[in-house]
Amino acid sequence: MRAEALVADTEWSRSVRAQFPILAAHPELVYLDSAATSQKPQAVLDAAHTYLTSGNANAGRGTYPWANRTTEAIERARHRVKEFLGDPRPDLSGVHFTSGATEGLRTVARDWLAEQLDDGDEILVPYADHRANLDPWLEVRSLLAARGVDVRVRALPYQETSGDYDHRAFAGLVGPRTRFVAATHVHHVYGGDMNVHRLRAAVGPHVPICLDAAQSVGHLPLRLGDPALDVDFVVFSGHKAFALPGTGAVWARNTRGPALRPGGWQGTPNTVGVVSLLAALDWLEDIGAERVSAHVTALTTRLTDRLRGLPAYEILGCPASLASGTALPQAQRRHGIVTFRHRDIPSDDLGFILYSHGFMVRADSLCQAGVASKDGSVRVSLHVYNTAEEVDRLLTALTSLS
Ligand code: PMP
Repeated sequence: MRAEALVADTEWSRSVRAQFPILAAHPELVYLDSAATSQKPQAVLDAAHTYLTSGNANAGRGTYPWANRTTEAIERARHRVKEFLGDPRPDLSGVHFTSGATEGLRTVARDWLAEQLDDGDEILVPYADHRANLDPWLEVRSLLAARGVDVRVRALPYQETSGDYDHRAFAGLVGPRTRFVAATHVHHVYGGDMNVHRLRAAVGPHVPICLDAAQSVGHLPLRLGDPALDVDFVVFSGHKAFALPGTGAVWARNTRGPALRPGGWQGTPNTVGVVSLLAALDWLEDIGAERVSAHVTALTTRLTDRLRGLPAYEILGCPASLASGTALPQAQRRHGIVTFRHRDIPSDDLGFILYSHGFMVRADSLCQAGVASKDGSVRVSLHVYNTAEEVDRLLTALTSLS
């Protein structure tokens, strides 16, 4: 099906959108900040409400029915995460629930990676991605340095022009001491797929790869059984994929080294959050993860293609955006995220102006590692509840400012 045809699929998109009470309650506003967190469908709100009003208890501790049901729900959610990610060997993997992707990446770093590295080992980490996917690896280096273990951290090379890793340069950095690669699935500023299969091809079959999937889970179907997604850790935010705030998970598989064992006393889990994540994944599968992806990509393409025609705007990671008219393959590859600057209007001002028209966007340095807040930009991030009409309204507002 063609992208534009799917945008016109209004019956389906209207029925999906109607399931989000917050959007129905605020028809004057347009939520365009889903890369920060998503809105929640009724099914998720109902699951949380039912849990809290009919069986709220701690997990793994009590012996009475509410406690047992909570423990079972958490186990079901673990299983559901594996299923949702297309895990081909659920018997060899584990799922650990976290408060979001930041905590998930730090868990992999502290509780797994730090135990794996020896003096002289090298790790490759993404210096131009979300800082949640940089700081934990640098912390591991410091932690080990304090123990006299010298680990070399190399920057995963980046191609500013395409918004992708520089895969050719990456291959040149891989050596016999390469022990670990941290990468991102969909970039939180450029919205492109970072082609992790090319990282795997360059690094060979034995080096663990940790994938930050904060911007892909809920947007793209992930199939871990697919050789193109041969990774060892998948970290994501549940709250960006329709679950409640304070939710996320680490999926870890145990075939390239010892299992991830989250350290220390784990305490009480976010039980209602995990219940909401289970409901969110069920809901996503019900409405069709493929269809969500097609809808969001179609909206993103619509926005990118038309914004490229406005000479006052520069789209980040889209080199010819100021010289419109050229066919850009990466315009097709954006998954819900378009980030741009106005030639004359500072980005934070642009954010305020857009809110005065009812559009909620992100306007700052977007937590991108190495980017100062003065280098701000405006990020529009779309999800399944957004419509072609909202995109067109945004374009009208942006055109009036150009
Ligand atoms: N990684 C990426 C790519 C992100 O976009 C974000 C959130 N903006 C994070 C990590 C951090 O996620 P969380 O808010 O769930 O901690």
